[in-house]
Amino acid sequence: MLTDTPGIHHVSVVVRDAAAVHRLYTETLGLRCVKRTVNFEDKFTYHLYYGNEHGDPGTVLTFFPYPDEVDGRVGRPQVAATALAVPPRSLDYWEDRLSERGVAVERDERFGDALLRFSDPDGTRLELVGTDAPVDPWDEGPVPAEYAIRGIHGVSVLSVDPFQTAGLLETLGFDLEAQAGDRVRYRAPGDHATVVDLLDREAPFGREGAGSVHHVAVRAASVDELHEWRELFAERGYDVSRVKDRQFFHSLYVREPGGILFELATESPGVAAVEPLDALGERLYLPPQFEPDREMIRPQLPPLDP
Ligand code: ZN
Repeated sequence: MLTDTPGIHHVSVVVRDAAAVHRLYTETLGLRCVKRTVNFEDKFTYHLYYGNEHGDPGTVLTFFPYPDEVDGRVGRPQVAATALAVPPRSLDYWEDRLSERGVAVERDERFGDALLRFSDPDGTRLELVGTDAPVDPWDEGPVPAEYAIRGIHGVSVLSVDPFQTAGLLETLGFDLEAQAGDRVRYRAPGDHATVVDLLDREAPFGREGAGSVHHVAVRAASVDELHEWRELFAERGYDVSRVKDRQFFHSLYVREPGGILFELATESPGVAAVEPLDALGERLYLPPQFEPDREMIRPQLPPLDP
């Protein structure tokens, strides 16, 4: 029997400029860099992780910086925006903070929650949603704890076939919760990072590139269940990967017929498991298979800190 996912595990984004990403997500948004490692499929490029103190599942955004990447264009089938949770009373603080740093901000409201909409330097569409989330923020960063980001709130998805994407969400354990206009809200049963909004609207085809979400990962109960999920997806004819060992979690990828790439990832051992907690993300972490190549890899990666 497969366990319903409690919610999102992480969201991974393609970008161009590693140092600019590092500055925005740490200095402006106040997240902790919880892992600087390389893309396990391409060891000469970074894979950067930002989240709360421990990089808990449901708090982490990860980035694949490719210096020569073309501009992405949001469209179908893609994640149209990634929303982060902030305390409801903090939106004025965030509007000022972002505006002071030259980030253009728009206010909006959705299902009763106020939100701010903006983009990162690569055009990744982000939202800060005022909502209560039982997540410990990173409280040693530049943003006071009372305003700090409480992990991921959810994602908005433009599918080429919302009916199929809804089917996958329901299989994973999401339930239809509400609808407003062309936005249909699905929610997983956990207590944070639970929202996927399907946008049932006409949109041009997107182009993957800088600023595109590469995939959305949801939390899976165990490695054994990953193998069960894999069988289920294969039976349905979905395009599914083998189960992979990502060092900090095990995972598999599934491209559903609506075109969105989902990952299922275990919560353990977690991004904090392979490094001392007080030094998380400070040095280049390489998995054992790449460690012998450290002297070759290191010079290929641009410095992140000034
Ligand atoms: Zn991932």
